[in-house]
Amino acid sequence: MRLLLVEDDDRVAAPLMEGLNRYGFTVARVRTGASALSASAADLVLLDLGLPDMDGIDVCRALRARSTVPIIMITARNEETDRVVGLEVGADDYLSKPFGLRELVARIRAVTRRTHPERHTPPSTTAPKPGTPLTGAGHTRLPAERGVQRLGPLTINRRTREVTLNGQPLALTPKEFDLLAHLAGDPGAVWSRQQILDAVWEPGYFGPTRTLDVHVSALRRKLSSPSWIATVRGIGFRLTVPGNGAYD
Ligand code: CA
Repeated sequence: MRLLLVEDDDRVAAPLMEGLNRYGFTVARVRTGASALSASAADLVLLDLGLPDMDGIDVCRALRARSTVPIIMITARNEETDRVVGLEVGADDYLSKPFGLRELVARIRAVTRRTHPERHTPPSTTAPKPGTPLTGAGHTRLPAERGVQRLGPLTINRRTREVTLNGQPLALTPKEFDLLAHLAGDPGAVWSRQQILDAVWEPGYFGPTRTLDVHVSALRRKLSSPSWIATVRGIGFRLTVPGNGAYD
């Protein structure tokens, strides 16, 4: 999948490109709005709002006027009005700096799924439509079952970031998914709060640790039982399958 990164700040762009490459994305990077508008076609555009030559909102509007390419706005601004204007001029999603790479990748996948659902259909169940590129997103395809974890009634698909409970899909936010996937990486294991914050948020995360509790509470609610995520007093959390002693 080819991404166009429009970002003038090298300190932001360099680690972002490196990280996205690790996730298998091909990234072309430009520094200005003008070069974004003359760049060759991409599968998705990551657009910084604060550009040296043009306002990112105008770049978004111009891109949208001539293409349906998915656009994720990236900005240091966190104003509600910017977000609303961004979405009004055709951005598909909006991410405020600072953000984690995992969160960005989750947004890229979600936007791609929304705008090109066929790219995420397992090839084993559906033949590619005529004209569907075999390169691009296709090269990241994995066998349908790979990355699917079953824990009692819970199914976690890391490839599609979908979770089902008793066969019913759960609507998780990207962070809730990351948190669940992290805990499920070693069912029964105790993770300290800092370990979880490092892995799911950012290494050296110093924000309010209440953030973690809020997400744990939301996950417990969505999993319909608090016993999925056990609190280990004074340490952190662990995942257990309710009514199943196998992981205790
Ligand atoms: Ca900038």
